[in-house]
Amino acid sequence: MSYIMLGAPGAGKGTQAIALSNQFQIPHISTGDILRTHIQQQTNLGAKAKEYIDQGLLVPDELVVDLVKDRLAQPDCKKGFILDGFPRTMVQAHALAEALKDLGYVLRAVINVDVPDEDIMIRMTGRRICPNCGNTYHIQHHPPLEDGVCDRCKTALSIREDDQAETVAKRLQVYHQQTRPLIQFYNDQHILLTVDGTESATTVTQNIMKALGANA
Ligand code: ADP
Ligand code: ZN
Repeated sequence: MSYIMLGAPGAGKGTQAIALSNQFQIPHISTGDILRTHIQQQTNLGAKAKEYIDQGLLVPDELVVDLVKDRLAQPDCKKGFILDGFPRTMVQAHALAEALKDLGYVLRAVINVDVPDEDIMIRMTGRRICPNCGNTYHIQHHPPLEDGVCDRCKTALSIREDDQAETVAKRLQVYHQQTRPLIQFYNDQHILLTVDGTESATTVTQNIMKALGANA
């Protein structure tokens, strides 16, 4: 079974995607994580992507679409997957629909993690990420067990460059213009499921599981 996580930057869709990926034992595919890995490894794609990401802009559709298509074609996706941060534009949504059809995959649900802009701005400043394994934390809502250290791999946590205030404002604007229309798009297909993302991460996970009719 396959799922899409939708939501504004900082809505917590990454955290929920990881929870569902563990719960259902299916791969978590985050385009943000994949792009950051490319940046770290200084690939051509990474160099191109960095120019956009650092400005709070979306990476051009064709780059991300190709990357996702390659990932979905890998055998571990046969049992299902969770897309996190993709699709983010109507062009990507249409390209995904086509790719899913080609691969014979069916979407079970599009999970929209809903959080108002005001909360987003406050949240982003508290966000921390593990530069090694990509796990995300929040100093208030989802703190690591030990201050500043990743639970999973014990690496020192860091703040993402694109989590600065002006960049966050830009990312929110981009979200409203380019990504929000997808809510209507998937709602029209009757596969949209919206959860209140202002609750604690555990409550949000439980609400998603309930809405999906699965046991948490
Ligand atoms: P967030 O959801 O908090 O913005 P992500 O890690 O998902 O964080 O993405 C970080 C950045 O990577 C985005 O701001 C964007 O520049 C780029 N990116 C990620 N996914 C996509 C996508 N599907 N299309 C275009 N750009 C993307
Ligand atoms: Zn880690």
